[in-house]
Amino acid sequence: MSGTPRGERLNITLVGNRNAGKSSLINALAGQEIAIVSETPGTTTDPVDKRYELLPLGPVTFYDTAGLDDVGELGAKRVQATYKILWRTDIALFVNDGAAFSASELTALEHIRAMSIPLLIVFNKSDARPPDPANLEFCASHKLPWIAVSALKQENITTAKELLISLAPQYMKEERPLAGDLVSAGNRVILVTPIDLAAPKGRLILPQVQVIRELLDHDAVVTVVKERELEYALETCKKPPDLVITDSQVILKVVGDLPESVPLTTFSILFARYKGDLDILAAGIAKIDKLADGDRILIAEACSHHVQADDIGRVKIPRWLSQYTGKDLSYEVYTGHDFPENLEEYALVIHCGACMLNQVEMSRRIMEAQRRGVPITNYGLTISKVQGVFERAVAPLYR
Ligand code: SF4
Repeated sequence: MSGTPRGERLNITLVGNRNAGKSSLINALAGQEIAIVSETPGTTTDPVDKRYELLPLGPVTFYDTAGLDDVGELGAKRVQATYKILWRTDIALFVNDGAAFSASELTALEHIRAMSIPLLIVFNKSDARPPDPANLEFCASHKLPWIAVSALKQENITTAKELLISLAPQYMKEERPLAGDLVSAGNRVILVTPIDLAAPKGRLILPQVQVIRELLDHDAVVTVVKERELEYALETCKKPPDLVITDSQVILKVVGDLPESVPLTTFSILFARYKGDLDILAAGIAKIDKLADGDRILIAEACSHHVQADDIGRVKIPRWLSQYTGKDLSYEVYTGHDFPENLEEYALVIHCGACMLNQVEMSRRIMEAQRRGVPITNYGLTISKVQGVFERAVAPLYR
């Protein structure tokens, strides 16, 4: 269970003041000690993630966050870290110990509601005191579901769990196709995966592993080759493959070796649909032909890795894009969960495949770019565009 990739887990974030009992509530919901509980306020400083199998939803990550009432300069930074976690949150549990909501709690509640995150208010410590009537009024006037529990005495925990599960948005209950819907049982698929300096030692990268697994689940016959062996693989096949999926960086070489009739796409384009929204990310490509001198491009990479001399986000895409447009463009790279506040200062956002992000975080990034009127696309779509094979590379996903 712990092997489920982080980006495939649903994120449930517990938000509330210090000593509201967030860690105890996680343990009560999980029925085991997965979070450290202390009576000392402020024990949880930075957000801590705890993995758990919450049936019927499946693998989830509970984020235990620092108290909203944390004080001092460091405290303010911790609260900021809590707000950052909300970007990747599928469901928020707002934990209050029964006392009337403070200003910091009301601000956080407003923030969560503005982000349209499904929200359950949990009044913990019901064995010590009932929820303040003003809090109940607040819940009623904002139509917020709430429940009173005692994590300490295990009271009402099962009902809280049921309520939590009932709040799961539809996308949490549905499986999105990655590549399985593009094949039928017995179809032959060739995957092209360069093993260059950027490739991790001794393993394939997550997008490649996930695609292989899904194709096997759909009974496809999968062959994995490096780009240099593709020609040989095609020669030794009795008939052309039903689909070729390549790493975007070698798509031009693959196109050169592949008959025009063979459907072709890239791992990154599959992830544009799987993690994000293919229609929006594909529409973002139109901006490339309108870029002007001085435009700033945001390169967003969802993980940090050792940067190679010919790094895709920092070197290859900037080089290809500047060559294609002939414009004097500048590039800034954001990695991991960092995403800039000043989005509107960019002419275009080019995002990686986001295999390390969960779907909701990628969707929020897309929504935020749209809200600010900034076109957003992804690596695979961009590379296909600047290499002149965009239509062919997206065609299999629009059949
Ligand atoms: S850069 Fe993006 S697509 Fe590539 S491995 Fe990291 S998260 Fe996944």
